[in-house]
Amino acid sequence: MINLVLFGPPGSGKGTQSLKLQEKYQLMHISTGDLFRKHMRENTDLGKEAKSYIEKGDLVPDAVTIGMMNDKIEHSPEAKGFIFDGFPRTAAQAEALDRFLNEKGTPVSKMIALNVDDDELVKRLLNRGKDSGRADDQDESIIRNRIEVYNEKTLPVASFYEKQGKYVAVQGVGTIDEIFARLCAEVDAING
Ligand code: ADP
Repeated sequence: MINLVLFGPPGSGKGTQSLKLQEKYQLMHISTGDLFRKHMRENTDLGKEAKSYIEKGDLVPDAVTIGMMNDKIEHSPEAKGFIFDGFPRTAAQAEALDRFLNEKGTPVSKMIALNVDDDELVKRLLNRGKDSGRADDQDESIIRNRIEVYNEKTLPVASFYEKQGKYVAVQGVGTIDEIFARLCAEVDAING
């Protein structure tokens, strides 16, 4: 069983690459952002709570996020492994995920980070905002806040996995296929 954490700032391409990895390695892709947006569309209590944070570009509180993620894993017994996209995004989330997966005997195999500089991120997100309809992608100050929150709260998660010898980073700029090939080389190295 392979459990991947795909890591990187907003707009680094985690979603795009997750879809390709999911197909190639037959893993289940779980994106906390997608799950939150589904709850918001369906106007659930969780969705209503998440909305107030997401529209400012802040993180949804850990308790809500961790609960939603554990529930999703618990309800996916058929999965042969997972790609975690957008999770864990805080030290507390990383600790909770480790505890949860270790109890199941299926720990995180590797965290792979996508490196992309800030100006390229802002450009990509504003571009995505034009046709995705995502309000959080249409306002440069919200985008800059998300990048700031990432640098402050999420970057430390990399050292959490680095200490376990599970962290690698690849260049996240290039064509989609070039970046995918870099990721596949890292996945293929897991059992090799
Ligand atoms: P991006 O990576 O482009 O910012 P996502 O779709 O991953 O987009 O996330 C959108 C928003 O959902 C984030 O800005 C944040 O408010 C919320 N969110 C997603 N994942 C988490 C998480 N693990 N913890 C807290 N909030 C989250």
